[in-house]
This record gives sequence, C-alpha cells and structure tokens, in this order.
Amino acid sequence: MKLSDSVQYLKGVGPRMKEKLERLGIHTVEDLLSYFPRRYQDWTKVTPMGDLVPDEEAVVYGEVVGLKEIHPRRSMSILNVMIVDDTGAVVLTYFNQPWKADLFHRSKHVLAYGKVEYGYNRNQISNAEIEAIEPEDLPSFQKLVPVYGLTEGIKTPQLRRMIEGALALVEDADENLPEDTVRREKLMGRLAAIRAMHDPKDWAEQREARRRIAFEELFFMQAGVLLLRKKREEGRESIKCAPSGELVKRVREHFPFRLTEGQQQAFRDIEDDMEGLIPMNRLVQGDVGSGKTAVAALSLAKIVENGYQGALMAPTEVLAGQHYETFQHFYEGLPIRVAYLSGNTKTSERHEILKQLAAGDIDVLIGTHALIEKDVIFAHLGLVITDEQHRFGVKQRKALETKGGSPHILVMTATPIPRTMALSVYGDLDVSAIRGMPPGRHPVKTYAIGSQMLQRVFNFMGREMEAGHQVYVVCPLVEKSEKQDLASAVSVYEELRDRIFPMFPVGLVHGRMKNSEKEAVMQAFHRGEKKLLVATSVIEVGVNVPNATIMFVYGADRFGLSQLHQLRGRVGRGEAQAYCILYSDNQNEITQLRMKLMCEIQDGFLLSEKDLILRGSGEFFGYHQHGMPDLKAADIVKDLPLLEEARKEAQNAMERGMDFRKELAHRFGGAFLEKLGGEVTGDWWLGIRSLK
Ligand code: ADP
Ligand code: MG
Repeated sequence: MKLSDSVQYLKGVGPRMKEKLERLGIHTVEDLLSYFPRRYQDWTKVTPMGDLVPDEEAVVYGEVVGLKEIHPRRSMSILNVMIVDDTGAVVLTYFNQPWKADLFHRSKHVLAYGKVEYGYNRNQISNAEIEAIEPEDLPSFQKLVPVYGLTEGIKTPQLRRMIEGALALVEDADENLPEDTVRREKLMGRLAAIRAMHDPKDWAEQREARRRIAFEELFFMQAGVLLLRKKREEGRESIKCAPSGELVKRVREHFPFRLTEGQQQAFRDIEDDMEGLIPMNRLVQGDVGSGKTAVAALSLAKIVENGYQGALMAPTEVLAGQHYETFQHFYEGLPIRVAYLSGNTKTSERHEILKQLAAGDIDVLIGTHALIEKDVIFAHLGLVITDEQHRFGVKQRKALETKGGSPHILVMTATPIPRTMALSVYGDLDVSAIRGMPPGRHPVKTYAIGSQMLQRVFNFMGREMEAGHQVYVVCPLVEKSEKQDLASAVSVYEELRDRIFPMFPVGLVHGRMKNSEKEAVMQAFHRGEKKLLVATSVIEVGVNVPNATIMFVYGADRFGLSQLHQLRGRVGRGEAQAYCILYSDNQNEITQLRMKLMCEIQDGFLLSEKDLILRGSGEFFGYHQHGMPDLKAADIVKDLPLLEEARKEAQNAMERGMDFRKELAHRFGGAFLEKLGGEVTGDWWLGIRSLK
C-alpha cells in the first residue's frame, strides 16, 4: 500500500466511513497517518484511590464491588459503579448510558480514566473511560492514549484501528530527510516517528516523535522558502551600484540630525545589497519614529548617484505628501530632481511628470498607488521603495512578465515582524531592523482605563487642548459590521463635538468618506485647525503631527497589540510629554493582560513577540492569509530553535545540490510557492515598466 492510496482500500473503510474521513480532510493513507492526536491521556500512572485529588484527571485501577442503577425519572438513568483498591474506593457514574452496566457485569477489574470530583462524601468520576483488564494484562495497557479531534460518527478506537492497519501495510514511508541531517539532529526515523505519534511508549518517545515530525515540516517549509528565493535571484542581473560617493555623503551631511546607530546599520545593509550581484530584496523594519524615511532618502540618493531612477510609494495621500515635503528638505540644493504623483494630480501636470519620467528627467518619484498605473513609465528604474508595505494588497504577478528590468526592492514597515515570521512567511526577504530611537524621545505614558475614569480623562484632554496641544480619538472598526462601527464613530464624534468639547474644533475621518474629504480633514488637523480628530483606524499609518499629545483609543480591547502600538506611535513626536489612553470595559483576563503589556512595554519588537505568544501562531498577522500551509506538529512560535535548525539544514542540503522540488510540490501544491511569494515579493512594483 502506498501513502498516496485512497483510504478506501483500508480494511474497515466503507463508503460511509470514507465520507466521514473526508470531512476531517483525510483522503489518502498519508492524510490518515498524519492526522495526529490533539493530546494524550496519560494512563501510565495509576493513582491509588486513597491519594486521589478532586478536580484533577486521574487513572485508577480496581475491582468492581457494587453496581446500582437508578431511575429518578422515567426518561433518566444513572449508573453507579463502585470500584476499590487497597487504599480506597471510587464511584464511577454514567448518565443515561444503561448499556454500560453490561460491561461491569462481565468484568471483575477495570482501569478507569477521568476527572475526579468530590461529592456525597466520596470521590467519583463521571463518564470515565474504561478498559476491562485483568491484573496480569495491566502493564500492556498502561500507556499514553491518543485523543483525536473527531467528527461525528467516528469513534477513537475505530480511528486507531484504521491507523494501525495503515501502518502495517504502508510500503513507501521512506526517509525523506537527508541522511546526514537525520544523524546530526538525532532525529527519529520517519515511520517510527509516525507510529510513535499515534502509539507512544511514554512521554520521552512522544517528545522525540513530535520533534522529528515538526522538524520535517519546518525543513520542507524552509526548503520551499529558500527555493523561491533562489528562483527569484536566478537570471536576474542586478543593477550593481558603485560604493557610495559624493551625493550620498552630501545628503547625509544635509540631514538636520546625526543618524542613529540603527539607521546607519540598516543603510550599510542596503549599500551591501545594492553593490552586490543580486537585486536587493530587503525589508527594513523599524518602530514608529525610528527614522526610516532618512534611510529611504539615502538609498534613493545612492541609486540616483548611479544614474538610475527611484520610486517611493506610500499608502495614503497624506503620508505620500508628507514624504514629498520631507524629501524636498532633505535634498534641498542637491542635484536630485523629485516629483510627486497622486490620484489628485491634475491631468496636465500628470502628463508633464510622465513625460519627464520617461525621458529620465525626474530622479525620484514619490506618490501613492497612482505610481503603479500602466502609463507610469520610467526611463531606467533602479530602486523601488514601499513604505508601510503591509498596507498594500497582493498585485497581479502577471505584470512582472511584461516588465524588463529588475530593480532593487526595499520595503519599510513599522509593524514589527518577530523572528519566526521573518523566517517563515517573509522567509525569502532579507531583514534589517532599526533598533533604538533618535535621542530625546520621551516614552509615551500609557494608561488603561474603564468608564469610571472617563470624565477625569476628558477633563485632562480639555486641559491639553487649552494648552495648545491636539488629541486623537480612535474608534474600532470591525470588518463584519462596518455600518455599526461607523455609527459608533459618528456618535462618538457628535458627543465630543456637541456635549463634551463644544469649545474646541473637532473633526471626523472614517473609511466611508471619499478620499478627498478624508484628506481635507487630515490636512486641517495637520495645520492645527482642528484640535481633536475622531477617526476609525485610518490614522494608523504614518501621519506626523508633532503637536498631538494624546491618543485616546475607544474599545481598545478590539485592537491587536501591534495595532495599538502603531496608534500610540502617532503621539510623542514632539517635545511635550505624550499620553496614550486605552479605554475598555472588557474585564476578560487576556484583555487585561494585553492592556497591562501596553502600559509596561514601549518596545514594539518586544510587544509583537508577546502578541504572537498571546494570540498563538495561527492567528498572528493573518498567518493563514499569507498562504502558509497548516503545520500539523510544529508550532511556529514555540519551535523557533527547531525552525532555525531546520533552516540551516535545508540550506545546507540545497547548497549540496539536493533537489526537493518533488516533495515540495507534493506537500504544498503549486499554490504554496505562488502564494508564499505574494504579499511581499510579488508586489506593486511588478506593475511598473522600466524601459531600460
Ligand atoms: P518612521 O520610522 O516612523 O517613518 P520618520 O522617518 O518619520 O520615522 O522619523 C520620525 C521623526 O524623527 C522625523 O521627524 C525625523 O526627522 C526624525 N529623525 C529621524 N532620524 C533622526 C535622528 N537620527 N535623530 C533625530 N531625529 C531623527
Ligand atoms: Mg514612516
């Protein structure tokens, strides 16, 4: 029997069972064998009945000494079975399962598993799982018993029997990892590990089996990631830049500040990439306010210095416009021609910009999505930078094929990506982290409050505005009920404007507004004409209003930690002390913990690691949305050390020319390789046509 055979060829699998298995996603023998237990019941340790602890799960073994069936009502039956050992007694109770009585009539000794409860002056176990076992057979039953996540109509023993049958017959579960990897990592063999997952001798064996299976999953995931990377690099000749010269130096000296250590390091990484033989594909992650823009300015100067053009795309008009303004300062008096293009650029102006761009008379083009339109044609595009890249969706890969050059690619994000994610989802990108902040920043004081504090906080907000500062009020947005959320943002806005702060100009932005309306309100806030801005989370990205000192978040429990951190990063950009106030009446334990973390931790990297652990790997960062396959045994969070090992081994094997394509295609299908590249590598720049 082969792994790829349908389960229907197994003994005991008829058409009906086949259907049930399919509901669990089990089609082939391989699916069945890798349908691993959710957990195990530990039947290895029998607890003497005298030592039982209420509210804990336990295994007991004893002699059946009494059996009583009661019918408190016609439709109800309770079966009480008393079993004893040398140290005490336990009563097993079953509700409405009168047929169980048979088994106890037939057997003298039973092994029982379940949660102990204390009641009626005795220990009892409700609905215990039992095996009838005579004392001489006991040792062979004392083991870990797998517990599967089952669907209706399949019982655990049935599943176990099918799995045992498959294990006995399968011929081609050969070792699929390189021999030396198995040796170096001291991994259990493949078949032995599958067997031990379903039927472990003890915890030590179970641990080794899980480690092997998890390693295998991570190994092939990494092989996929690395393969993708290699494919991207193959046959793509880099625009090889010269070591940085005069122009880069002048931009650097022109900054009104000294670069931080983190900024310098990130730019050194970028220089190395741009001077190399393979096109750069780098992610720069730096906390909000860490100064990514300056790094972008240097990188763009470098490409211009080498005779090429650069592009910088930002997700909103406000942000792109701000970048344009900043760059005009950064490049003031230097021979770098900067232009700005957005959806609102006038037709005649746009026409002129496109003409100059195609002629090579513009060096750096800054803008919004408008940059990706078909008729935006560069004379010789050499570097493409996306700011806040997670804001951009996946764009058609197709466009790449029509595009000539292979520009260097840099993506910048303030949403920190933990190492596990960087190695998996983003595994084919190089990552630079800007750690540390420019000097002179005060941490944003963060408070979590409930409704009893609300009035005091409003008073405080009023005082800050009187002192000339500005305030953000953010309302949550949940995709499922956009209408309702809008209503809540609007009503918050009306309440604040009419009742609480009638003396201050209050503005509102939300996702349903037209872009131009949104821009107008944001600009008014930017200019200080509005003192308070009520927003759904649209302001999350990049706006820079150094005069704002308070970030007030309604329904803070409905935001992720990373999102809250982003919001917090909107304030504390000026000299004055800034505050982030998280408002929520949710008393849920996890919520409280998250709020506490926000109050205590300022470092976005650390927060995102905590977020990952709190949320679990599946949910984090839309892990599944990135097209990552389900991991059956590995845990992307807890198995970081194993992931690093697996990556090293996969790299090593591929460097020696081992080819895993067949295995990868089998595991992930074509879709995996496509999707994995999606979000970050196959991005918008694919739409930009370069003439060179
Ligand atoms: P982000 O990484 O969030 O995009 P920005 O690039 O917008 O951050 O920088 C935030 C602010 O910090 C800007 O006002 C910028 O001028 C300033 N800044 C950047 N680098 C430095 C530095 N090395 N020293 C002092 N201020 C800096
Ligand atoms: Mg920025």
